[in-house]
Amino acid sequence: MKVAVIGGGISGLCTSYYLLKAGVQVELFEPHKPNKENKKEVPFGASYVNAGYLTPSHIIPLSSPSLFASGLKMMFQRKSPFYIKPRLSANLIKWGFNFAKHSNNKHVDYAIPEIAQINLYSKELFQEILSSNEIGDFQYRDRGLLMIYKTKEVGDEELEVSHRASEFGIKSELLEHEALKKIEPHIHPSVLGAVRYYSDVSTNPIEFMSKMWAYLMAHQNFNLVENKVEAIDLNRAEVRLYTDSGEGYSFDKVAITTGAQANRLLKSAGDSILLEAGKGYAIQTPKSNHIAFPALLLESKVAVSPFKDIIRFSGTMELSGINHNINKLRVSAIAESAEQYYQGLSVNDFKLDKVRCGLRPLSPDGLPYIGVSKDPRIVVNTGGAMMGWSIGPAAGKMTTAVLLEQKTEISLSPFVLNRF
Ligand SMILES: Cc1cc2nc3c(=O)[nH]c(=O)nc-3n(C[C@H](O)[C@H](O)[C@H](O)COP(=O)(O)OP(=O)(O)OC[C@H]3O[C@@H](n4cnc5c(N)ncnc54)[C@H](O)[C@@H]3O)c2cc1C
Repeated sequence: MKVAVIGGGISGLCTSYYLLKAGVQVELFEPHKPNKENKKEVPFGASYVNAGYLTPSHIIPLSSPSLFASGLKMMFQRKSPFYIKPRLSANLIKWGFNFAKHSNNKHVDYAIPEIAQINLYSKELFQEILSSNEIGDFQYRDRGLLMIYKTKEVGDEELEVSHRASEFGIKSELLEHEALKKIEPHIHPSVLGAVRYYSDVSTNPIEFMSKMWAYLMAHQNFNLVENKVEAIDLNRAEVRLYTDSGEGYSFDKVAITTGAQANRLLKSAGDSILLEAGKGYAIQTPKSNHIAFPALLLESKVAVSPFKDIIRFSGTMELSGINHNINKLRVSAIAESAEQYYQGLSVNDFKLDKVRCGLRPLSPDGLPYIGVSKDPRIVVNTGGAMMGWSIGPAAGKMTTAVLLEQKTEISLSPFVLNRF
C-alpha cells in the first residue's frame, strides 16, 4: 500500500513513523522542512514552538465551565493570554456555538477519562520510542511539572483537578511557598505555592522533531515532497493529490495531518470539521539559574520550559484565524508575567525577531479528531489543541491502524470526525 501523509508536524511525523514500522510506503508532503545547515533556525509550526510537556495532568478539556468563564473575562483585555479576534466567519460562529454547548460539567466528566487515557498511552509510546533507540537519544526528563499559583482561588481549582487526576493514577503533591522555595529557590515572594505533578515529562520539541526527521529520511520506504498540497481529487480509483508546483501524485490512501489547516484540504475532499487555530508564542532566552523546574504559571497561563542551553517561555491562546502575525503586545505580556513569578528573572532583553508562533488545532469539545472522513480513503489526525505534542505518538499509531483497517488499542469513538 502507498500512503500520502500531508503535513510534517508531530502528527505527520508520528503517523509516518508507525506506517513505516507496518511496512507501508510513505510519501510525506511538507513545505517547511527544517533547514539542516542552520539547526538554530526554528521553523514556524506548533510542533516546533510548543513547551514540550507530556501532560497526563492536563485532564480538563478546553471546553470547561471554568475556562469558558475566565476566557469570557479575558477576551477583551489587550494583554490577556486569551483572545478572539471578532470576525464574520460562519465557521467561527459554529465553532463558538459548539464550544459554549460543551462547556459544562457533564462534558468535562465525559472527556476527562478519554483525555487521561490517550495521554497515558502516548507517554508509554514516547518511552517505547526512547528505549528502542531508533531515533537516538532525546531529552525525556520525568521530574514532573509545577503548576504555580499566586491566588488561593486558582490554587484551590488546581488542587481539585489534581484530586480528579489521582483517579487515573496521576500522582501529585501540594507544595506551599516554603516547600516550593526548597526546589525552586528564586520563586517570587508573591507566589503562594504549586501543585507538583509527578506524571508529567519534559521533552525538547526541536530535538525530538529533528531526530524523527532524520530517522524517517534515512528509511528506504520514505520519501519527502517539499511542497504544499493544494487539492485532493477523489474521482479515480486512486486518490490524486495536486501540489503548489502543479504536479499530481497518486496514492491508495491519504492521512491529513496539517494541524490547524486541516479543513482547507478536507473541504477539497468533500468533508469538513469544526476547527479553529489557537495561536501561541514562544520566546527563548539563554539558560538562567533562576529556574530549575518546568512549570506552568497558572494565572498568566505561561509555560516555562528549561531545556539544555535555553529557557523557553510560551503562552497565549489567540483565535485570529490562520496567520503567523506576531502581536508584540501579547509577546511582551508573556515576558512580563514570567518575571512576576521568579525573583530577579529578566526576560525582557529577548529579541522580537526570535519570537516564534504556532497554531494549535482546536476542536470545540477539546478532544482530537482521529478517524476516517466521508471517503474512507482519507483519514484525519488533528485537533490535539494544548496536548497535541503529548498525544503525537498515540494519535500517529491510531491513525496508522485506521489507515490499515486494524483495531486500535484505545477506542476511537470519542475522536470521530462527524461528532458535531
Ligand atoms: C505555544 C504553544 C505551546 C504548546 N505547548 C504544548 C505542550 O507543552 N504540550 C503539548 O502536548 N502540546 C503543546 N502545544 C500544542 C501542540 O504543539 C500542538 O497541538 C501540536 O504541535 C500540533 O501538531 P500538528 O502536527 O497537528 O500540527 P503542526 O505542528 O501545526 O503541523 C502541521 C504541519 O502541516 C503543514 N501543512 C499545512 N498545510 C499543508 C499543506 N496544504 N500541504 C502540506 N503541508 C501542510 C505545516 O507546514 C505544518 O508543518 C503547544 C502549542 C503552542 C502553540
